[in-house]
Amino acid sequence: MNHIEQNVKELLKIVPPHVTIVAVSKTHPSSAVEAAYHAGIRIFGENKVQELVSKATSVNVPAEWHMIGHLQTNKVKILLPHVSLIHSVDSLKLAKEINKEAQKLNKTIPCLLQVHIAQEETKFGFDENELFDFLENPDRNALTHLRICGLMGMATFTDNKQQIRNEFKRLKNLFDTIKRSFFQNDTYFKELSMGMTSDFEIAIEEGSTMIRVGSFIFGQRNYVNK
Ligand SMILES: *Cc1c(COP(=O)(O)O)cnc(C)c1O
Repeated sequence: MNHIEQNVKELLKIVPPHVTIVAVSKTHPSSAVEAAYHAGIRIFGENKVQELVSKATSVNVPAEWHMIGHLQTNKVKILLPHVSLIHSVDSLKLAKEINKEAQKLNKTIPCLLQVHIAQEETKFGFDENELFDFLENPDRNALTHLRICGLMGMATFTDNKQQIRNEFKRLKNLFDTIKRSFFQNDTYFKELSMGMTSDFEIAIEEGSTMIRVGSFIFGQRNYVNK
């Protein structure tokens, strides 16, 4: 048994069944995706459109693909045929573009709204005010081919576990508030994508329904060849 299979078995022992695992395969080859698939993983995440499309069209297993990274409007068209969930919707402009291209494909695209919860300036996403502006914007009614299924967020990159926990708590509270205010009777709005290799156990304790785990499964990433 290779190390990817072992890692997946280990992960499946820790992660409760109500939490969806997204295996983040960025920088790793299609063969790694196939090994994880054979060990029981069904959903893979990529943060670059080109890499997602190239793997989605080359792997020899019927994997599902999630876009987890920042998405530029000019890449939406090539992404949509291959993606089953976009975690990283962070503007009305992007939402409109996804809606437009989805309409052409006669598809409805499930999406999460990315929220900026970390201290770092570098992370994408709506801040809380922008999120409410988006949700209250009447233009949103025209987004008939985009289905908002929940929220996504990334904690600060820090060793301070309490800070990470507090950020996840804040996101969970925001999720509950938004669910109550905007999606009360909407059965689709139910996903809270939070937690990566270094913090998924805290994220699950704080209410995550979907974790995005890369290095735990595939080992360290080597960016040298990219
Ligand atoms: C790379 C990445 C992950 C996974 O990171 P690991 O630390 O390898 O688990 C999760 N989410 C996003 C948005 C990423 O870009």
